[in-house]
Amino acid sequence: MDQLRWREAGFKPLIMLALIVAGIAACFKTVTFYFKVLFRAEHYAAQAVCDACKTYGVIAVTGSSTLDLQNAGAAAADEWLKVRCKKCGHAWTMSAEHAPTPIGKSL
Ligand SMILES: [Zn+2]
Repeated sequence: MDQLRWREAGFKPLIMLALIVAGIAACFKTVTFYFKVLFRAEHYAAQAVCDACKTYGVIAVTGSSTLDLQNAGAAAADEWLKVRCKKCGHAWTMSAEHAPTPIGKSL
């Protein structure tokens, strides 16, 4: 933006303005994508508590919706992960739609 001079002749000011607008759009899209991935990671992390032994994050992924070729075109809401607790062997499915209860609270 510092190099933008409206009094210069030719298309240079318009090109500079177009680059500025494109840069702002790219920054907005990147930040939006970053937060989308961050919130998705937090959503799945909240489901990483074993119901059997209450251990957090000691899991092995045994399957996922992205590995299922028949389900490759599924929407984000249809995403799932099949996981198994490495400590006790309990297995469960994490999903994009599942809203877990906070640790230590029961409804
Ligand atoms: Zn467990």
